[in-house]
Amino acid sequence: MAEEDTFQETERMRLLFFTSPDCFACPEVERVIENIAGTSMKGILHVSTIDISENQEIAAQYGIMSVPVIMMNDERIAEGLITEDVIREKLWSQILPNIIEQERDTRRTESMMILTKNTISSIISQELVRKNLGDYVHISVYQQVMMSLLQLDPLIPQLLYQNGRELGIFGAAPYYLTVLNPKVGAVKPEERFQETLLALAQLYSHNPTVPLYHATRCDVSQMDGYNATLRIYELANSAGAINIGETLCHFTAGEIAGTIEAMIGSATSVKETKCKGLGDPYCEFEIEVFLGKEPGKAPYRVLETKLEDRQVQFLGDFPAEDHRRQLFYEFIHETTQHGYNSLKMTEALRPNDVDYVHISALQQQIISLKFKDKFCGALLYSAGRELGVIGPGKDLIYGLLAKEQAELPITSLKQATRIMKEYFTHPTMYLPRAHSFVEIFDGEDEDEMFLRIHECAYSSGANFSAETDMNETLCDFQAGFIAGRLALILKDPPIVTEVKCHGTGHNYCEFRIEKGYSFEEE
Ligand SMILES: [Zn+2]
Ligand SMILES: [Zn+2]
Repeated sequence: MAEEDTFQETERMRLLFFTSPDCFACPEVERVIENIAGTSMKGILHVSTIDISENQEIAAQYGIMSVPVIMMNDERIAEGLITEDVIREKLWSQILPNIIEQERDTRRTESMMILTKNTISSIISQELVRKNLGDYVHISVYQQVMMSLLQLDPLIPQLLYQNGRELGIFGAAPYYLTVLNPKVGAVKPEERFQETLLALAQLYSHNPTVPLYHATRCDVSQMDGYNATLRIYELANSAGAINIGETLCHFTAGEIAGTIEAMIGSATSVKETKCKGLGDPYCEFEIEVFLGKEPGKAPYRVLETKLEDRQVQFLGDFPAEDHRRQLFYEFIHETTQHGYNSLKMTEALRPNDVDYVHISALQQQIISLKFKDKFCGALLYSAGRELGVIGPGKDLIYGLLAKEQAELPITSLKQATRIMKEYFTHPTMYLPRAHSFVEIFDGEDEDEMFLRIHECAYSSGANFSAETDMNETLCDFQAGFIAGRLALILKDPPIVTEVKCHGTGHNYCEFRIEKGYSFEEE
């Protein structure tokens, strides 16, 4: 309840929309704004529509000569006939800094600290978080999560960057740097930047001291005062990626920025300029320190790419957003194929390293996003659901269905849940080490079932409730994924809710599956 209240109290952003009755382009722009304000920015945005033919004084005050015009924070952010993509992007870039300011709370910091402690004991003292399965997960699992998030919304890169940055400050990286390069803590502040970079290069290289396996190799490729470039090979995030015309490693960029900020105390901005996602053989990050400026006050910079420069082109007249989504679908399928080959050990995603990464890499991204604010849980669910619907492994599900001689679509929730269990426990599904065993239970009636997953990669070890007053389920992505998979076979797509989780102090995750209803029945 208390949380609900604080959220209500957060100030809404005021958007001014200037229109007039004889404006041709206005109704379409207005429709888009209303749609955004009513869905993804619900509760955040307050829209005031101003008809300039009736409010000439206000129009004059803001210098509005023609319509439509969108203003926010007294700043003109868009005008004329603008596409939905552009409006969304402009709005998010205005809103995001405010959300981050408002939602910054201790919960995320605390959760990151606990994850950090777990990671350090798993990595340094070799105390496993997942006793049966071990603490590494196949990078295809990690990439599928990231890609399904990235294709959802143009806002995700900036969110991931900000989360990475905070993790750089509160997470384990500063600790690892001092382990890898004791000089970091010993040198004078003016030499610390250089030593920090050398330590980062070790951290992102395959090394036996901190075996996270984030990447195979990392070099400082250029250094000039407080500007430098880091080149990272086979980064888990994008190793084996196809060229989709945009950079993919936003979380890593943020983590590098935050780690440097933690070490030298000045604002740092990191921009990824080369990436496997752009067809480059490695990822490259441009680092710029704003000496003396407070951490966090550096600009967020992302490489601008043009759609027409992208190598993979699709026939037909897709809107930009759909086009981008197609590329990500392509990528997810590509990753999957490579993933299978890697699991069968016929081809590696990272020819020079193992194809597994420490679970902390996945958990940090998912959990920091989950605690970002209210709507990030919904984003994770949508991303998971999307992957459930479009992602790999459908043949396996249809095969299991055929074995039961069931015809699509099926109506029994119990039968569908049983197939889900067989799917999750199929030998090939154990290989990525995303979870260990899976059980199902009957609910109160035939419209309710429960699915329990042990040792999931997303939340194992995240037992925050033991040490804090946090008591939250963390696996929205997994819930969405189960919902998406079930939607493939069930007549009425079900509602899936995580009811127990490591985050609520349980040592497994449990999902309630409820019957959905189709329109005909209503
Ligand atoms: Zn990259
Ligand atoms: Zn969970």
